[in-house]
Amino acid sequence: MNNFELYNPVNYVFGKGQTEKLATLVPKDAKILLAYGGGSIFKNGVHEAVTSALKGFEIVEFGGIEPNPRFETLMKAVRIIREQKIDFILAVGGGSVIDGVKFISAASKFEGDEADILRKRILFTDLSLVIPFGTVLTLPATGSEMNSGAVVTIEATHEKLTLGGSALFPKFSIVDPTVITSLPKRQLQNGVVDAFTHVMEQYLTFQHDALLQDRFAESILKTLIEVGPSVVENPSDYKLASNFVWSATMALNGLIQKGVPSDWATHMIGHELTALYEIDHARTLAIIGPNLYRVMFETKKDKLAQYGERVWNITGNSVEEKAEKAIEKTIEFFHTMGMKTKISENAENIEKTADFIVNRFEERGWKAMGEKQNITLEKVREIVEMSY
Ligand code: NAP
Ligand code: FE
Repeated sequence: MNNFELYNPVNYVFGKGQTEKLATLVPKDAKILLAYGGGSIFKNGVHEAVTSALKGFEIVEFGGIEPNPRFETLMKAVRIIREQKIDFILAVGGGSVIDGVKFISAASKFEGDEADILRKRILFTDLSLVIPFGTVLTLPATGSEMNSGAVVTIEATHEKLTLGGSALFPKFSIVDPTVITSLPKRQLQNGVVDAFTHVMEQYLTFQHDALLQDRFAESILKTLIEVGPSVVENPSDYKLASNFVWSATMALNGLIQKGVPSDWATHMIGHELTALYEIDHARTLAIIGPNLYRVMFETKKDKLAQYGERVWNITGNSVEEKAEKAIEKTIEFFHTMGMKTKISENAENIEKTADFIVNRFEERGWKAMGEKQNITLEKVREIVEMSY
């Protein structure tokens, strides 16, 4: 097993009705920026629940954070924080709102060009340089409620980039599984597939010796397979909802990443498809993931075979046979979850996609990716062309 440090300071508050505890979680006397997205929180009662729990606090509202949050929009909130001396942010929404708030938190005290936070990937580790924030999660998928990473798009240049650092963990996250009843089916499907792929990025690497980590990862995958298809049909079934929501958090709160190598190239390539064609994040992962496993077969085949045996009960005469069947099963699962696994089924005029992505990665100096740094630009091209 590799050396690791496990640090996760998030106060994770899970269950029905937990929003009522907000007043005890937000610092006393805080002046709060309540940040939200396109307005779903007004239709499903979450805004009402949050504001009545926070009666007596001074609140400034900031709405309009879009899915795949935009740098340009977030900078408006940064200016409000600076002008109005706000000292706490509450993110109420899905991964986009929470990620957006992480950027706002980091940018508000940043001296210099805020786009550098993304372009130069500045790491935030000093709590005195960020604005503290909490979250009320409304969409299980990203794990953003319990991790310190975020993804933000610079609209002007169509760049989807990441930021993070140990100072960007939420102080608390309220996670009430009943909020998923108002989610459109498409978002429920996306949530299951995003969480599933987060586990795969950290588990489906070359064969490794972290036995417990493998079992953790496999148990999350099996739970998502067990509840995923039915939670999409019955989001008001609390047993399904609570297990789905907890699985999505566990998939990316850092625990399964400890002591093991991780890949993340599916996400890196997928982000480009969202930046180019606005394909939903999870849908890009369903397109790229299985083709990446095919192109990187030699590196990943032992773990693929283990995954096939333990997660899908696959049998076969050789490692290769089990590994191939495991990829097929994964694609079948994504189809069951409503995904279309080719780029051409999700966007038009896609012939130059591989050129574009390879050029972008080259410009950024991303010449080797994956757990072994053996996903070269040629491999990226092969993966993307296989995905057309
Ligand atoms: P999202 O973009 O936050 O939300 C998608 C849509 O769902 C929005 O239109 C939102 O509407 C709506 N919605 C949210 N909660 C709802 C509810 N309870 N009822 C009805 N509608 C609801 O989706 P997401 O998948 O959570 O986040 C995707 C973003 O996270 C991407 O940018 C992705 O790259 C990033 N990501 C981050 C991490 C990380 O670790 N930080 C990991 C993976 C992906 P409103 O806007 O009206 O609320
Ligand atoms: Fe993701």
